[in-house]
Amino acid sequence: MKIKIAECSGFCFGVKRAISMAKQALEKNKGRPVYSLGHIIHNSQVVEELSREGLKAIKDLDGIKEGVIVVSSHGASPALFEQLKSRGLEVIDATCPFVMSAQKIVKALNEEGYTIIILGDKEHPEVKSLLGFAKDKAIVVKDEKKIKGIEMSSKKIGLISQTTQSSENYNKVISEIMKKGFLEFRVFNTICNDTKKRQDSAARLAKNADTMIIVGGRMSANTKRLFQICSGICKDTYHIETEVELKTDWFTSRELVGIASGASTPDWIIEKAKSKITEISNS
Ligand code: SF4
Repeated sequence: MKIKIAECSGFCFGVKRAISMAKQALEKNKGRPVYSLGHIIHNSQVVEELSREGLKAIKDLDGIKEGVIVVSSHGASPALFEQLKSRGLEVIDATCPFVMSAQKIVKALNEEGYTIIILGDKEHPEVKSLLGFAKDKAIVVKDEKKIKGIEMSSKKIGLISQTTQSSENYNKVISEIMKKGFLEFRVFNTICNDTKKRQDSAARLAKNADTMIIVGGRMSANTKRLFQICSGICKDTYHIETEVELKTDWFTSRELVGIASGASTPDWIIEKAKSKITEISNS
């Protein structure tokens, strides 16, 4: 049995950058509390590792009056930045530059009076930050089915997507909007390059694999998207966070096992999964 890891795997640029900024903040601020609001990235094992180094993940700002706060790669709304500053906290902004570009787009669209539609998950921190930049005036849809019922506040439509969406979903939303009455329709390709490359390389591998293993956090939007794409191609596709979830019968009489990973999955977790699959196939 052969095991192949997708060409694009491991941390993406934005995640690497956020982790490195958090580590630098810990290094420079020994003796001061260093927080992240929510998880700095959507991978529990990395969050635990950073927590052992001193990064405290907090759910809200209750009782937080002093220290350093690292804003995650998903970004935060302008109102939240104001709140952090008004509490006198030192802010380290690790928002991924690709998310920042999307934030600037929604801000401008709102100022220019567009009906803003965001394709994404409204509970995801990146989408919440985008909503904040649109002064809560954007409409969030999770797929094309919601488009029909949307009331347009303006005949000018601006569409963007969460950075980790698939092009396929985005194209379906675009086609559905085209059926609505509008004067102007602006589409911004805010799916980040890493996401596109990762999805394409996983899909290529899934075409030839008998089993696909998707490694990544349960909260990670891009990992869930990879699972969705690969399971549409290879019926034996499984999502795991770590190698302990692997089951022997997933690998019985298989010739090729493919491994793809989310953008917040470190190489060491992927390697452990690969070793465990090798061990299963040799037993
Ligand atoms: S997936 Fe893309 S947008 Fe998200 S953090 Fe990584 S590089 Fe940035």
